[in-house]
Amino acid sequence: MAGLVTGESIIVADKMLEGAGIKVVKGEVLRVDAAARNVFVSGGETFGYDKLFLATGADAIMPPLEGNDLEGVLTLRGLADGWKIKSCIADKNAVNIVFIGAGFISMEIASLLSENVDRLLNISVIEYLDRPLPLMLDYDMADVVRPYLEQKGLNMFLNEKAEKLVGSNGQVTGVVLGSGKKLDADVVIVNVGARANVELAEQIGLEMGRFGIKVNGFQETSNPDILAGGDCVEKINFITKKPTPGRLRGPAVMQGRLAAKRLAGYDVEFPGVLDAGGCKMFDMTVAATGLTAANAALEGIETVCATVDSRSKHAMIAGMKPWKIKLVFDKKTQKLIGGQIVSHAVAPAKEIDALTAFILAGRTIPELTTFTAACNPDISSEPSAEPITLCAEQAWQKLRQLGRTQ
Ligand SMILES: Cc1cc2nc3c(=O)[nH]c(=O)nc-3n(C[C@H](O)[C@H](O)[C@H](O)COP(=O)(O)OP(=O)(O)OC[C@H]3O[C@@H](n4cnc5c(N)ncnc54)[C@H](O)[C@@H]3O)c2cc1C
Repeated sequence: MAGLVTGESIIVADKMLEGAGIKVVKGEVLRVDAAARNVFVSGGETFGYDKLFLATGADAIMPPLEGNDLEGVLTLRGLADGWKIKSCIADKNAVNIVFIGAGFISMEIASLLSENVDRLLNISVIEYLDRPLPLMLDYDMADVVRPYLEQKGLNMFLNEKAEKLVGSNGQVTGVVLGSGKKLDADVVIVNVGARANVELAEQIGLEMGRFGIKVNGFQETSNPDILAGGDCVEKINFITKKPTPGRLRGPAVMQGRLAAKRLAGYDVEFPGVLDAGGCKMFDMTVAATGLTAANAALEGIETVCATVDSRSKHAMIAGMKPWKIKLVFDKKTQKLIGGQIVSHAVAPAKEIDALTAFILAGRTIPELTTFTAACNPDISSEPSAEPITLCAEQAWQKLRQLGRTQ
């Protein structure tokens, strides 16, 4: 959309799959006869199977807003949606672009358009909650992000609801907010979540969860011959053990591999998701894993948190960029349950993966006070300023003050 990569470069080439002995069939699966183990495809072909893997993904949700059928109101899921947004912006010579929802998809597209379209755009982002990236960041961490985005020229409308879309001659011209404000809009891009594609699974009669097809730890559905994975299945959150959508690439890829392993006779179970992810906006990177303190509170988990300012390189090295980390611990078990990073350097991706590994391993506050990171002046902070250790020490102090240290 921003012209940085070609559409073709993100598609797996048929010949790569065919080279691995896979027959590629282009068409829509219209029906599955699970009793006869047949799949019926739009081109008229029928394929028999011994085992079937469903990976039907998810579709973007269009909320039931008045005016959502106007020309120029778009969602983004696949490549075709990307082409549509790109041509709509070009055809309308759009200047006023409004995003509904401040999740990672809106924020990345907004920053890419702002940087790469060769005219000055008036970009606004409307978010119902009080912060950008609300599923990734707590308010205190998002409070660093919001002014940066505003300074980059994005108009952030937080604690605001898109009430209705208005237009003339069938074309969208504006968004009316709950507060009564009206934003001019040539194009409106709606990113408020996705819904699992479960029509085939429902037609087969597979057991469903709240967020998609129900599967066990080996990706098996309620039908022993049908496995499923990715965005179309319901995941289990690793920490709360409760059902969750978990619609990200990491789990999708891993669940595909696990299903293949299961069929090849290996018994490796999926451990659940932590929703680890990243978002790059202009020169700022946000990465997060596990639960935010806000989401933990919604789950009834009392937390103790610590925030530390760190550096991408040793302080004396040229090009050093500051970054900020927050760790969230379960106050009762003292286990790490979440981490958030806001950074002007890309490097902290390694810290977020370290945090994911710590959460999966059940590491506690005292254990993390002895974490010793790799150190090199040009690629890491000083060991004395290692932020994960410092956060753990800070959290320990807080617990001590609360009289809870063992
Ligand atoms: C704009 C955007 C950016 C994203 N960025 C990130 C990111 O940075 N990091 C991250 O972790 N995740 C990201 N995600 C999420 C990630 O793309 C998904 O989690 C991932 O693609 C899920 O893979 P999947 O195979 O389950 O589903 P999909 O990739 O959606 O694939 C499902 C496919 O099944 C096809 N299909 C559905 N029904 C049928 C049928 N009946 N017959 C034939 N074919 C059918 C669909 O057309 C689709 O091609 C992003 C998502 C979007 C929309």
